[in-house]
Amino acid sequence: MSAKLACIAGATIYRMLKGGHLDAQEPVRKLTPFGLPEPAFLVNNSDAPFYLMPRHGPGLDRPAPWPMNVRANLYALKDLGVEAIVSWSAAGAITHNLHLGQLMLPDDVLDMTRRRPMTMFENCALGFLRQFPVFCDPLREMLADVMVELGLSAQMGGTVAVTEGPRLETPAEVRMLATVGAEVVTHTLAPEVFLARELQMCYAGICYIVNYAETGSRHRPFNVGELFAELRQDQGGKPPTDTAELLPKLLTRLAAKLKQTPPACDCRQSMSEYIKDYDLSENWREWFD
Ligand SMILES: [Zn+2]
Repeated sequence: MSAKLACIAGATIYRMLKGGHLDAQEPVRKLTPFGLPEPAFLVNNSDAPFYLMPRHGPGLDRPAPWPMNVRANLYALKDLGVEAIVSWSAAGAITHNLHLGQLMLPDDVLDMTRRRPMTMFENCALGFLRQFPVFCDPLREMLADVMVELGLSAQMGGTVAVTEGPRLETPAEVRMLATVGAEVVTHTLAPEVFLARELQMCYAGICYIVNYAETGSRHRPFNVGELFAELRQDQGGKPPTDTAELLPKLLTRLAAKLKQTPPACDCRQSMSEYIKDYDLSENWREWFD
């Protein structure tokens, strides 16, 4: 049975696979026009399977965020028949309304990245796409419904800033981001969300708060030189909630929901004007020949 849902995340994927709660099949890894993607693990423990794709490998040799091959990863998922992507991103809270361990389902992005490929279509004029809404609203609402069913609370909506990394932001950068309305900051999500639209896929993001973005004030104590210090001090090195452990359950339920009712959205038509105007093939693979 083909899977329609995929989750893209970082090291969380390998933790989930190690946890032994998922029946994941040998990863699929096929060369794409953009190079070799990360492996896609097929989780087949229900009648609604889904894929897990790590953004990077599990070890120390993983790249900084900007050289990650997002285009190959998304092409590979599309090629496998995936129609909807849920992204899991560790994030820092800028607003004081969010606390460690909380989840946020963003509805807007401030893309502050500088070195990443911004389009699947570098050599033609096909990337001129509308970005409102940024994320797939129906998918986000389905995700929120599943969270309620599992007893998880999440902030619905909010702006996430995506910075280049791998370093964290300076106090001046965090204050600037706060001024322009960013509530959380992360190093992932962009350009993924934009590239998913170019491939006519639904995309929703989950931001998992793992630290407080530092503004330079002393209101939130942060030990000098310690990354995610509060997390370690207060929780003995463990995430402050078991939210990450609930992700497999969440994906299983969401996959079942998607199988019953596909999201009522326009994501599958995002390139329809181009297909009409430029007589593009209905077979998306031919766009990249
Ligand atoms: Zn959609």
